Amino acid sequence: MNQDYRVLLYYKYVDIENAEEFTQEHLAFCKELGLKGRILIATEGINGTVSGTVEQTDAYIAHMNANPLFADMIYKIDEAEGHAFKKMKVRFRPELVTLRLENDVDPNKTTGKHLKPKEFFEAMQQENTVVIDARNDYEFDLGHFRGSVRPDINTFKELPQWIKENKEKFEGKKILTYCTGGVRCEKFSGWLLDEGFEDVSQLDGGIVTYGKDPEVQGELWDGQCYVFDDRISVTVNQKEHVIVGRDHFSGEPCERYVNCANPECNKKILSSEVNEHRYLRSCSSECREHPRNRYIAEHGLSEEEVSERLEAIREEAQVN
Ligand SMILES: [Zn+2]
Repeated sequence: MNQDYRVLLYYKYVDIENAEEFTQEHLAFCKELGLKGRILIATEGINGTVSGTVEQTDAYIAHMNANPLFADMIYKIDEAEGHAFKKMKVRFRPELVTLRLENDVDPNKTTGKHLKPKEFFEAMQQENTVVIDARNDYEFDLGHFRGSVRPDINTFKELPQWIKENKEKFEGKKILTYCTGGVRCEKFSGWLLDEGFEDVSQLDGGIVTYGKDPEVQGELWDGQCYVFDDRISVTVNQKEHVIVGRDHFSGEPCERYVNCANPECNKKILSSEVNEHRYLRSCSSECREHPRNRYIAEHGLSEEEVSERLEAIREEAQVN
């Protein structure tokens, strides 16, 4: 296997002056280096995932280390066989993670206690502890810590409201939060403290760090970890592999994500290759019949073929 490429994942909450200007400079710099990926820059900091050769990613880290703002930034590094992105995007955003809080949280002032993987592993198993997944629903569905709470929300920004509505589940408990690389929990755990929860901790370095830790080796993680690049998922638990993902159509164990072929839906659904074709890669009958269905276009299906296949699906549904 060719392992000359790497994927870097990193973030830092730090005040960036002229962040919009810095965004443009940073984009030019990354393009010149030949990196690909997605970097968000806000007045409150930076959050990125990039891929490149070992030389390119080393040069990037050296460049960032030379900047006092980012000198102590931590990188999670994965070996890869090639780029994990198709383009290089650097975007200016009002916030690093979309929470849109009434009273914003500065994680450098207010944030939950950082627990190292081993500490988190032990804390999860203590009594009176609740583990909250601070990610989106489709991320949870592919993999999560055993026994963790799946907030009933579609996107991360709905999480504070959901916590408020379910306060009694968490009051008086030791709260542990986790997310992919840690950037979301920095804010979310700070928000929990602001809300009056007293015992709040977060997984330092996120799930990906936990999976690499030589001691815990990802133990108590079930499934895979969703990542926001072409790899789609990475392994966390080095000791055992329990599949928790379920095929959208059949309910069978499944860890393969596809996007619904209705461009207006685009929902992430777990689906086997067989079911992807059987159901025209569409999450519902409405999506299958959408006039701009991408599966139908990609496979050049004629109207007749489409109606035959839709009819077959309907018949099958009646049999079951
Ligand atoms: Zn759909």
